[in-house]
Amino acid sequence: MKLIVVGGGVVGAACAYSASGLGAQVVLVDAQLPGQATAAGAGIVCPWADYLDDPAWHAYACVAARRYPDLAAELSDIGGDVSYRQVGALMIARDDDDARRVAQLMRDNLAVAPEIGEVRILSGEESQELFPPLGPVASAVYVSGAGRVDGRRLRDALMAAARSRGTGVRSGQARLACKSGRVVGVEIDAELVEADAVVAAAGAWTAAFVAPAGVRVRVQPHRGQIAHLRLDSADTRQWPVILPRRSGHYVLAFDDSRVVAGATREPDAGFDPRVTAAGVDEVLTQALAVAPGLADATHVETRVGLRPVGPDPRPLLGPVAGVDGLVVATGLGPTGLTLGPLTGDIAARTALGADQPIDLTPFDPLR
Ligand SMILES: Cc1cc2nc3c(=O)[nH]c(=O)nc-3n(C[C@H](O)[C@H](O)[C@H](O)COP(=O)(O)OP(=O)(O)OC[C@H]3O[C@@H](n4cnc5c(N)ncnc54)[C@H](O)[C@@H]3O)c2cc1C
Repeated sequence: MKLIVVGGGVVGAACAYSASGLGAQVVLVDAQLPGQATAAGAGIVCPWADYLDDPAWHAYACVAARRYPDLAAELSDIGGDVSYRQVGALMIARDDDDARRVAQLMRDNLAVAPEIGEVRILSGEESQELFPPLGPVASAVYVSGAGRVDGRRLRDALMAAARSRGTGVRSGQARLACKSGRVVGVEIDAELVEADAVVAAAGAWTAAFVAPAGVRVRVQPHRGQIAHLRLDSADTRQWPVILPRRSGHYVLAFDDSRVVAGATREPDAGFDPRVTAAGVDEVLTQALAVAPGLADATHVETRVGLRPVGPDPRPLLGPVAGVDGLVVATGLGPTGLTLGPLTGDIAARTALGADQPIDLTPFDPLR
């Protein structure tokens, strides 16, 4: 079976890795478009308080988070550390009642999602011990199972592991080629590369990629800007992810004294991959409001990515009705680094007709 994967973000890289492991002859094509979401993603893996009103999303996210430690270990064995660590998260409560409510919610979830780990209410001082730049807070809920991963390192590790399994990688803009209601491959620079199946993992650009098949996938870009700071000589390795419940912003740390402050959510910026004055102002203002101890940190860079957002939070994932051989895998929005490895694996299994870990009905890509 010859498979072409279009898109070299986390979803495409994970798909190529799984498909080549399942015995397919895989070619991955990436256009290196500015604004790849994976290259900008913060990398928080903590889905348990999100979209609680969408059971299909929630069940899917729990499976995705549960698989992370094993995947990170597997990739690290092949090519070195991918930066995934279960550093825990501090959900900064609005007040003590809020902390009790959130802690109870997490504990209620433990039966279906034991990977949440330990759930504890911490005082403001205990919270500051774990994350020293934090300002005064009433209390916080600590969740030990939360993790973080650098999207670029994860993507590169998946790509390297896929190559080691035989995946060929091509650079260029792919155009879907169809004939009589079925996919025949893609054109790259006017050259037809034939395949039995094509996985469209082109992130926010997926709608344009599948358009030649006469189908509409409702995915759009939501721009996100995210600032990277350095706190010289701080040992940030075990600092937890900071999730203030008052805002959708957050702060997290990586091993190299790096602290990341995110992120804007800009649904009206289209495919414009620029860092803007207002974007930088927003993320720094929000970060300093919760962690004033970051005021003297060095501003290293601001990254920008286009999240692929669908009509609802659920992935757009599965075979495309009426177009044989076409599989769509996108729409992961703000949680795509969490959901990406599972999504790529499911897309590979769909294309190859292998067993699936879940029922894909709620994820129909043409909904
Ligand atoms: C600021 C920010 C913070 C985030 N934080 C988190 C977080 O904390 N936790 C979390 O889980 N998720 C987070 N996300 C979300 C996550 O990063 C994305 O959902 C995920 O990376 C999407 O991956 P993808 O592979 O679908 O798309 P992308 O990474 O965008 O990759 C798509 C690729 O397709 C290629 N492409 C497009 N069209 C073509 C074509 N015709 N031919 C060839 N190649 C093509 C592009 O060049 C691109 O490389 C964040 C995102 C942003 C922007």
